[in-house]
Amino acid sequence: MNRRLQGVGMTSRRTRERMINRLQEQGIANPAVLQTMLDTPRHIFVEDAFASRAYEDTALPIGFNQTISQPYIVARMTELLLERGPLDKVLEVGTGSGYQTAILAQLVKRVHSVERIYPLQQRARRCLQDLRLRNVRLKHTDGGWGWEEYAPYDGILVTAAPPEVPEPLLAQMARRSILVIPVGDGRAQTLMRITRTEVGYQMEDIEPVSFVPLLPGMVS
Ligand code: SAH
Repeated sequence: MNRRLQGVGMTSRRTRERMINRLQEQGIANPAVLQTMLDTPRHIFVEDAFASRAYEDTALPIGFNQTISQPYIVARMTELLLERGPLDKVLEVGTGSGYQTAILAQLVKRVHSVERIYPLQQRARRCLQDLRLRNVRLKHTDGGWGWEEYAPYDGILVTAAPPEVPEPLLAQMARRSILVIPVGDGRAQTLMRITRTEVGYQMEDIEPVSFVPLLPGMVS
């Protein structure tokens, strides 16, 4: 790993170890998730001015009024998605910085990720290339419609909150697949896990969360 990826001081592996200890205290238990977050340089996904804060347990600005999700949320959502076993094909809605994408890419076979803000997508693409993660396909589109071309998915993870679960996402779930999504208006949202069964959809409320809204349309 080169020097930028490796990090020094507040961006070093030592700092990432402290983040992992914190995540364990917060109840994250999946060893593969913890190991992947230990190995992945989160500081390259934030703007240089924030690099020294990349491993704090907080969301940070990534431009365009958007934020990189806090480490706990990334870990929790990933854990919820993977709890019932390994997944082949996962759709992520809201690439943002690409950090959650990078974590997923190391834990599942193939990741498809969509983002409505083109410059964010481009920056995420560069970071994923720097990490040599080649099992990721990115698309600039409104993810409220999912990504039909590669459906159905074994897992879908949404990192922006719609007021209600978008129908197209439910339709693009394979049987026995899992959708992890924050749902709600304004700041009061609930993280939900939805499992597609043989006969319908099983909904679970997980915990209160605060995400940026899932917005319609695209920004070039
Ligand atoms: N997982 C990202 C989270 C970024 S914030 C990270 O940790 O960096 C949520 C992202 O969802 C933003 O980049 C925002 O532009 C994007 N987003 C919001 N509505 C969207 C939509 N309808 N389709 C695709 N992306 C959307």
